[in-house]
Amino acid sequence: MTAQTLERPSVNQTAQAEKILDVLIIGTGFAGLCMGIRLKKAGIGSFVILEKGNGVGGTWRENTYPGAACDVQSHLYSFSFAPKSNWSRLFGPQREILDYMNDCTDRFGIRSHIRTNVEVNGARFDEKLGIWEISTANGEVYKAKAVVSGTGGLSRPVLPNIKGIDTFKGAKFHSAKWDHNYNLEGKTVAVIGTGASAIQIVPTIAPIVGTLKLFQRTPPWIIPKPDAQIGSSVKGIFKFIPPLRWLFRKAIYWINEIGVIAFAINPKLMKIIEKFAKNFIAKSIPNPELRQKLTPTYTIGCKRILLSNDYYPALNRENVELVTDGIEEITASGVKTKDGKEHKVDAIIFATGFQAAEAVSPFEIRGRNGQLLSDAWEDGAEAYLGTTISGFPNLFMIVGPNTGLGHSSMILMIESQVQYALQGIRYLRKKNIKFMDVRKDVQDRFNAEIQDRLSRSVWTTGGCVSWYNTSTGRNTTLWPGFTFEFKARTFFLRSKDYEFVRVDGKAKKPSFGSRFSMALNATFG
Ligand code: NAP
Repeated sequence: MTAQTLERPSVNQTAQAEKILDVLIIGTGFAGLCMGIRLKKAGIGSFVILEKGNGVGGTWRENTYPGAACDVQSHLYSFSFAPKSNWSRLFGPQREILDYMNDCTDRFGIRSHIRTNVEVNGARFDEKLGIWEISTANGEVYKAKAVVSGTGGLSRPVLPNIKGIDTFKGAKFHSAKWDHNYNLEGKTVAVIGTGASAIQIVPTIAPIVGTLKLFQRTPPWIIPKPDAQIGSSVKGIFKFIPPLRWLFRKAIYWINEIGVIAFAINPKLMKIIEKFAKNFIAKSIPNPELRQKLTPTYTIGCKRILLSNDYYPALNRENVELVTDGIEEITASGVKTKDGKEHKVDAIIFATGFQAAEAVSPFEIRGRNGQLLSDAWEDGAEAYLGTTISGFPNLFMIVGPNTGLGHSSMILMIESQVQYALQGIRYLRKKNIKFMDVRKDVQDRFNAEIQDRLSRSVWTTGGCVSWYNTSTGRNTTLWPGFTFEFKARTFFLRSKDYEFVRVDGKAKKPSFGSRFSMALNATFG
C-alpha cells in the first residue's frame, strides 16, 4: 500500500482542532515522526501532527529527483529504536528511505494522529493561558500546550537570483520540485549548481539527455562513496543475529564520528583528506583543463564533502560540458555566460539548494508579548541546545539552529532533541505548570560557547562561502562537536535553565526528585 492511500484522519478534524492538545507537531519528516513515536511510546496520546504535503516523509517525500539517495549509511540513517535489517544498499535510495518512514509511521501507530494537506501559516503564544494557537491555511485553529516544530532546515528550495530567470520559455524546475512529466530524453539540458543534489542528478540523467551543460560556480570536494549492494546473506545475518547489526551500526557511527576532530577541533587535519580527494580527481579526470576546473581552492570540509563514484565519470562523457564562465543572465532560449556566449537549452534544472542559514520559520511565530521570532532572530537564528528559544515558551524546535552535522546522521541529533523535548512536555503536563521558558542568559552563554568553537572550525576558517553561514558569516546551522556530546547535554533537561511559571502566576522550579524521575522516564519510558 502506498503512503498516500494510508493518510486517513481517524477523528473529525474540526472537533480535534477545537480541543486543547497536549502537543501539536508540525511536519512529518524524521523529526516530526520521531516526536510522535516517542510521545506514543510514553503514553501521551493527545497530539496531532500537521503536514503540508500529501504524505509523510519531509525532504524524502519532496526530493524525488533521479538518483536521489542518502549520503549517510542507512544502518545509521535510521531510528535507533527501529533498526532495519534489509537495507538494499549501504547508502539507501530515496524511495527505500521513504518506505521506511511510512513503515515506522504504521508500526508505531501514529498515522491516525497525522493530518495531511494542512499547512500551518501562523503560531501565537497566549501567555495568560499558556497555550499555543496554531492557524492553518485552510482556516482551522489548533490549540496546544506545547508545539514541536519539525519543519526542517532544507524544506524551502531556492531559485537563484539570476537576471531574466522568468523569461526562459523552455521547461524549468528546482531539484526538489522535479517535473516527472517532462521527458528529458534527447534534450539539451542545463543544470545549474554542483552541490549534493546536482552530483546525484548529473550522472543519472547524462546517459538519457542529448547534451548536458553543467553550470558550476564553485567546485565541490568529492571523495569516493563506499557504497555497495547488501547481499541476502548479510541481510539474513542482520535479521537473525541482531547484535551483529547493532555492532555494524556502532562501527559506522564511530568511523563517522572521528571526522569531528578534523572538522571542528583541528582543521589542519583536513589536509590529509584533501590529498586523498586530489588523488581521486587525478585518477578520475584525465583532461588537465577539466581537472583544474574541478579542483576547489578552499579547504576540504568548508562546504559539505560530497560522496560519489559516478559524478566525475559523467563529466568525462562527450555529451556533458562543464561551464565555469559564470552566468550573466537567463534568456528566453537558454543561459548566457559572462564571456558573452549563449547556451541554448530546452530545459533548466536548478540544483541551487535551500534557504538554510537565513531561514527563520516557514510561518509567522509569535511568542511572549507578541514578539515575532523573525525579530528575535534578526541577527541570526539561535536557540538553547538548538531546541528551545527564550521568549517562546513551550516551543521545541527539532533540527533547530546549530544542530546540523557535516559528518554523520541527522537522526542522531533528532533523537537527542526529541528526548529533551519529551522531558519538557512531561513538565508541562503537570497541572500547575503554565509554561516554561528558557532563560535568556543561559541561551546567550550557550551560543557564545558554540560560536567560539565554530570560529576555529573548518566551516569558518576554510575560505569558502557556504549555506552553513548567514551573509554576515555567522554559522547558524552546524553543531561544532561530537554527537555524543550533544546527546549528553540534552540527556537531562536542567530545570535551572528554565523559568517555570505556574498557573497561579508564580515562578517555580520542580524539585530535584521530580526532575530526575522525569528525565529517566523521558529516556527509558
Ligand atoms: P547546495 O549544496 O546548496 O548547492 C547549491 C549549488 O547551487 C551550489 O553549487 C551553488 O554554488 C549553486 N548555486 C546557487 N546559486 C547559484 C547561482 N546564482 N549561480 C550559479 N550557481 C548557483 O544545494 P543541494 O545540492 O540541493 O544540497 C543542499 C543540502 O541538501 C546538502 O548540503 C545536503 O545537506 C542535503 N542533501 C543531502 C543529500 C543526501 O544525500 N543526503 C542529497 C542532496 C542534498 P556555490 O557553491 O558557488 O554556492
